[in-house]
Amino acid sequence: MQAISLDIGTSGIRGQLLDVERKKVLRTVITSHNPLPGANVMDHLDFAIERGPHLAHEVLLGAVRQVIRSLAPDRWERLTVCGNPIQLSLFEGIEVRDLAYAGRNYLESRNIVPPDRSGHVLQGDAVGLDPEVEVIVPPAIRHEIGADALAMMIKSGFLDDDMCMVTDYGTNAEMAIKVGDRVLTGSAAAGPAIEGQQISAGMLASPGAISDLVVIPEGWQAMVLNEELEPCAGSKLSLRGNTLKLQGCRAQGITGTGVIAVVFAGLESERIVLPRISGGGISLDRNIRFTTADLLEAGKAIGAIRAGHMTLLEEAGVDPGDLGTMYMAGASGTYVDARKAQAVGMAPASAKKLVQIGNTSLELAKDLAFDPEMLDSLNSMTKELLAHHIMFASSLTFSNIYVQELAYWTEGMPREAYERNLSELGIRMATPRAGGVIVERRRLTDIWDVGESLTMIDPGIFLSGAWSCDLCMRCVKACPERALRYSEATFLVDAGRCLGTACRHCEEACPQKVFSYSGLSLENDSEDR
Ligand code: SF4
Ligand code: SF4
Repeated sequence: MQAISLDIGTSGIRGQLLDVERKKVLRTVITSHNPLPGANVMDHLDFAIERGPHLAHEVLLGAVRQVIRSLAPDRWERLTVCGNPIQLSLFEGIEVRDLAYAGRNYLESRNIVPPDRSGHVLQGDAVGLDPEVEVIVPPAIRHEIGADALAMMIKSGFLDDDMCMVTDYGTNAEMAIKVGDRVLTGSAAAGPAIEGQQISAGMLASPGAISDLVVIPEGWQAMVLNEELEPCAGSKLSLRGNTLKLQGCRAQGITGTGVIAVVFAGLESERIVLPRISGGGISLDRNIRFTTADLLEAGKAIGAIRAGHMTLLEEAGVDPGDLGTMYMAGASGTYVDARKAQAVGMAPASAKKLVQIGNTSLELAKDLAFDPEMLDSLNSMTKELLAHHIMFASSLTFSNIYVQELAYWTEGMPREAYERNLSELGIRMATPRAGGVIVERRRLTDIWDVGESLTMIDPGIFLSGAWSCDLCMRCVKACPERALRYSEATFLVDAGRCLGTACRHCEEACPQKVFSYSGLSLENDSEDR
């Protein structure tokens, strides 16, 4: 029997075809981006709320069907999914408004009934797939922390450890701390910079992406992911003189781990003096530049993650100096140079050991496909975790720390003032250990086992609208993402490249006021375009 496992992530979908009897991965397909409009999970949620969960579900399902088709299953009978509660709810096409608004009174006044998000099994037709297929959906802990957080705890070894932390580095950084038998969880809205998005030359961890900057005698050298997603030597640069020597593997963009490496290198060489980069940016390859605006995006992400870690340490009553291991999950947590990540603030400076563990979400989906009965234990575990979950959105500790992080990263607050303010707030700072940190790269690649092949596809899901107008094309020219085009009397928006409901530059640019973003509907033959 064959099964398909999916990790529905904010930055894209990863799918695997599995041989259940042999417990083997046959092949892997990933999408170049999430098919929903918007740059982060909150944009996806906004789109679903404004345009209706049905449309968002259809867009996501269109991409899921393409992943399934590209996996070319033979006789598959089971589909398992993993991801955060927003993505999994959109996949199921269920209520999502409760994920946007906190407060029972508010929800009741709007007749919003939160659906049961405990783990369950569905027939395929309930989500728009083959009715013969069994679909297994794991549970969410709270509305902002889901099955992907369970995955990082279960698959990392965190649950068998003590005085340790785990973080899945993504747009939403899910994190947990374990002290004795107690596990506290939280989730920091880091934003997409950590995955190389909303960065001017940003891209996901795929071939052509700058993933690191390493020290060489002449200065620094960009490392570029090749077709096998292994780093190869690219351009050389001197950060002091801003000279760039193009050579070796050519880059097409910079991914989240590259962003961390550039921030580290910039701070080390003093080319970056927060909140600016001298010269306005750092050239990394032809037409690839890391700008001061990119630095601010990265700083906000790092600040949110550091504030989350400090909040968990405080709420757990742990002295940062007693922290043992930090487990680092997700593509960013795997490919990043762990020491550089720790140096810039992505892991507590006091952690004794950093363990890089890869994509655990896809692994949990695979485990569920091989052993569906583990759903019961996931449901029990979720109930226990719920008792110690901290909502950072309503945590005064988090908010106090994050204000200091923002001032430090985006307003140039001196380090001494940052430390003094935290100390006055009673927050204990993590300091680096004498002798340095131990790094264990347990997984060399994000996806633990790709099987016979790894293929990347563009989901290519389009929204369309047709209006009678004078065809001035101002809407097309106004689109900052080149997501909009006009073809055969129809305006077509590439949904996954569109910035979503918060943008609407296309609509605003229309002199005749006929362009209607909310009038766009799913293009029927999206998958053929
Ligand atoms: S201009 Fe319109 S189509 Fe382009 S990104 Fe913005 S909302 Fe999307
Ligand atoms: S901007 Fe308005 S009038 Fe011009 S092509 Fe677009 S929809 Fe038509």
